[in-house]
Amino acid sequence: MKNNLSNIKKAIKYLNKNECVGIPTETVYGLAANAYSSIATAKIFKLKKRPKKNPLIVHYFDLKMLEKDCKINDIFLRLYKEYSPGPISYILKIKKKSLISKNVTNNKNTLAVRFPSHKLTRNLLKQLNYPLAAPSANISTKISPVSKKDVKEEFGKKLNMILDGGQSKIGVESTIISLINKPKVLRLGGIPKHQIKKYLKFNLAYQKKSKIKSPGQEKIHYSPHIKLRLNIKNPNKNEAFILIKKRKKMNTNYFYLSKKNNLKEAAKNLYKTLRLIKNKKFKSIAVEKIPNKGFGEVINDRLKRASNFK
Ligand code: AMP
Ligand code: MG
Repeated sequence: MKNNLSNIKKAIKYLNKNECVGIPTETVYGLAANAYSSIATAKIFKLKKRPKKNPLIVHYFDLKMLEKDCKINDIFLRLYKEYSPGPISYILKIKKKSLISKNVTNNKNTLAVRFPSHKLTRNLLKQLNYPLAAPSANISTKISPVSKKDVKEEFGKKLNMILDGGQSKIGVESTIISLINKPKVLRLGGIPKHQIKKYLKFNLAYQKKSKIKSPGQEKIHYSPHIKLRLNIKNPNKNEAFILIKKRKKMNTNYFYLSKKNNLKEAAKNLYKTLRLIKNKKFKSIAVEKIPNKGFGEVINDRLKRASNFK
């Protein structure tokens, strides 16, 4: 803990100097910078090689901080009480007097916001007088990082500091819900859609494609940049095979996402497994059919986009 405190101090120093810092969250690791600074947020786009038109999610400690930047509505408050801090992001209207950099919103009047639950990052956010813009800490279109080591693999010496918060517990990105008009889910993620629907007690639309081009909706994304085939029963001989159900036979090219056929555990291990396969230099990946329910729906969404890499 003592070690963490001095690391947080060091992270604050970098952030105050408009530098980027890798931060742990329960979903995936983020590449964080002062959301009020155009100099700092421009560095996120440069490091990630991210198209400028893709807006960023801004991370807050609490409602008090959020109210400086966003207009708040009743459905937001209901969802906030139930799910935040946690793996859910909300799209809200931005206030005119907000100091959020135009880089973050791509000049639009809406803002994606989240309250991460990871202790270390909450501790960091609490000590800052600005929120943190933080997309996933990976090069655009590639696999999201779920540990400090993964972030290092993405950026090497280009990134001066990464806070170490262990492996991300959820392992996939946040669920994004737009609260601008009728609530609708824009990206499947850490909180299953059916759960939110049950809680709100009304039908919740899922809009896969939005007018705002965003990374979570890009055709190729979450990809190890290796050919990937879905719904495969029998893989080729030299192909990595991603499985969810235990088989009698165990081969060196088999990679289990879950020990007990548990979809939440499988989601947690997804990016870690894809990265392991990439680092083992496999040329092709086959994936067993994954049930399309709960976290299985999230896994399938990410794998579908990864499979667009040819
Ligand atoms: P990531 O790079 O993983 O943090 O993903 C950022 C996500 O934020 C994208 O997938 C977008 O869907 C979403 N996003 C950010 N700002 C907005 C916005 N104003 N409207 C709609 N989606 C947004
Ligand atoms: Mg991302």
